[in-house]
Parts: sequence; C-alpha cells; structure tokens
Amino acid sequence: MEDKLLIKLFLGFIQIHILHHAKEHPIFGAWMLEELREHGYTIRPGTLYPILHSMENDWLLNKENRNISRGISKYYTTNEKGQDVLVEERKKAYELFKEIKD
Ligand SMILES: [Zn+2]
Repeated sequence: MEDKLLIKLFLGFIQIHILHHAKEHPIFGAWMLEELREHGYTIRPGTLYPILHSMENDWLLNKENRNISRGISKYYTTNEKGQDVLVEERKKAYELFKEIKD
C-alpha cells in the first residue's frame, strides 16, 4: 500500500532519481515505477505520472511521444535545466548524507 506521508517526504528523492535516470537514457513511466520499486519506493502510476508531468511543466524534463505497438508511449529526458538542478541537488543530498549518516 502506498503511504501518502512517505510520498510527500520522499518526493524530492523521487525527483532526483528521475532526473538521474532520464539523463542517462529516455525513461517511461512503467520503467521508472519498476526502478523505484527496486529501491524500495512503492508508488502507484497515478502518483508517478503527475510528478513526471509537473517536472515537464517546470522545464526539467523533455517529453517525446513514441509510437509503440500498443499506442503512444511518453518518454522523458532530462534537459539542460534539469541537469543543472540535478548537480545542485546532488551536492545538497551529499551534504545532508554526511551530516546524518551517523
Ligand atoms: Zn535508480
């Protein structure tokens, strides 16, 4: 079951995670859900898709519609602004990690 409080707390981590992978290769929703699940984040498509959409609206991700056998699939890639944000966030995450690790 999905915990709303946990999603709220980890939203930033989820977004950094998306930026990280979408920088390496275009990602689509189902792939990202599986990736997050492997890292222990159980989130529903109905939660992930609005996150991807808002990141697109914030000019962090570029969206590309691709024709696949079952219809159209949306692929997301981290754009230039998203990469800048990722660099900043990575520094902040590392700072925080150093402080709280013990
Ligand atoms: Zn990952």
